[in-house]
Amino acid sequence: MMEEILTQLRENGCRITPQRREILNILFASKQHPKAEDIYEALRHKMPDTSLATVYNTLNRLKELGLVDVLDTFGEESARFDPITAAHDHLYCLGCGRIFDIEPHQHEPLAQSQHAGFQIVREQTTYYGYCLECQGESGDEPPTILP
Ligand code: ZN
Ligand code: MN
Repeated sequence: MMEEILTQLRENGCRITPQRREILNILFASKQHPKAEDIYEALRHKMPDTSLATVYNTLNRLKELGLVDVLDTFGEESARFDPITAAHDHLYCLGCGRIFDIEPHQHEPLAQSQHAGFQIVREQTTYYGYCLECQGESGDEPPTILP
């Protein structure tokens, strides 16, 4: 996975510096859909002479090459990056900002005729709400859903 990404970057004229390699390590190990700033924070501890601009540049390059996804977020200023480009949906917690991966929602494909011939190339659903921890005091039982 990582090697594939590195190969693609190299083939597209991107020099693989130790910083770039570490940025990829952090991003691809993360399940948090990190912001550029989060990656920078993690990187700074290991490589104090790295700049936020390097992180941005690397992420933009990955985005251009389609090797990472950029998520729609709810009023957040910074983009959230997703190392998983295969189809999946998200649960976005409005309390803590965590984004969880879930299986893609199954439904009938939209008929093109209903949308004036619009050609759909990608679909992704994000559900906004509150995670268990944000629904009350920590340790509270989740709300009971009656049948
Ligand atoms: Zn939460
Ligand atoms: Mn995801």
